[in-house]
Amino acid sequence: MSSFQVLTTVKELRSYLEEARSAGSSIGLVPTMGFLHEGHASLINASTDQRDVTIVSIYVNPLQFSPDEDFSDYPRDISSDLKLCDKHGTDVVFAPSEEEIKTFFPTTPIHLREVTKTFEGESRPTHFQGVATVVMALFEIVGESHAYFGEKDFQQLTVVKQLVEDHELPIKIVGCATVREEDGLAKSSRNVYLSADERSQSSVLYQALKVGAEAVSRGETSTQIIESLIRETIETSPLAKIDYVGVVDSSSFEIPNKIVTEVRLLVACNFGQARLIDNLPAKKKVGSDH
Ligand code: AMP
Repeated sequence: MSSFQVLTTVKELRSYLEEARSAGSSIGLVPTMGFLHEGHASLINASTDQRDVTIVSIYVNPLQFSPDEDFSDYPRDISSDLKLCDKHGTDVVFAPSEEEIKTFFPTTPIHLREVTKTFEGESRPTHFQGVATVVMALFEIVGESHAYFGEKDFQQLTVVKQLVEDHELPIKIVGCATVREEDGLAKSSRNVYLSADERSQSSVLYQALKVGAEAVSRGETSTQIIESLIRETIETSPLAKIDYVGVVDSSSFEIPNKIVTEVRLLVACNFGQARLIDNLPAKKKVGSDH
């Protein structure tokens, strides 16, 4: 296929995709809100490794922010984004205007399952409806493809998988592991909001998740005890304001009564202006029964 290009209209993208498909190419889609970092780059790398053509969409979706959130301040740097995309072998950056993408928004609210009401859904009640609206529009525009999402937003990954299942869309969702800074902080566009003190304390989230995961691995089965261990660790950081700590089943996202084998540990926390989320898988080690 031809070299790196930036497209802003659906018409141009569809004509590109038509040509790619007629040449027998498989399509990878990486939806993003820009201000790209190594976390996004790992999704692009997965797509370029596995698919013939990689489309990276950049669209800061106003619908997934509530009025009191950081939509207008959300960091943007399109020229650095384009460099990163080009460097990692992206074929097309699709950067539509709101007018352009809006015509593809579903006209009625999307039915979302119960998973959208807890954790992120409880703290940000309109968030998943906003995510689903734009993701459905992108899936409609791009059509049959593999779409790459980060485990960093584990609840979002679950919601997107459910959307594909419920609407029988011709999309395969590929989840990619979280990319972290050296001290364990998950890379995020929002990390730029952190002051030096907040940044140095923010690695407590990863440390707390690890404390929880180690306890599960040793055979602790009580979700309450795991949650308390995570909370107590985060509370050693004076700048951390916990929003939630959770233990959920990795596939259903339901809260188990008791940890049987494998769960996902979740945290959301404010450090000053920055709202950070993170998660980690936790698995009971064989032979670790209490
Ligand atoms: P965003 O631009 O924040 O909407 O993120 C776009 C995609 O990149 C989502 O699927 C995120 O889950 C994923 N992503 C963001 N940060 C990371 C990270 N640190 N590691 C892996 N994937 C990430």
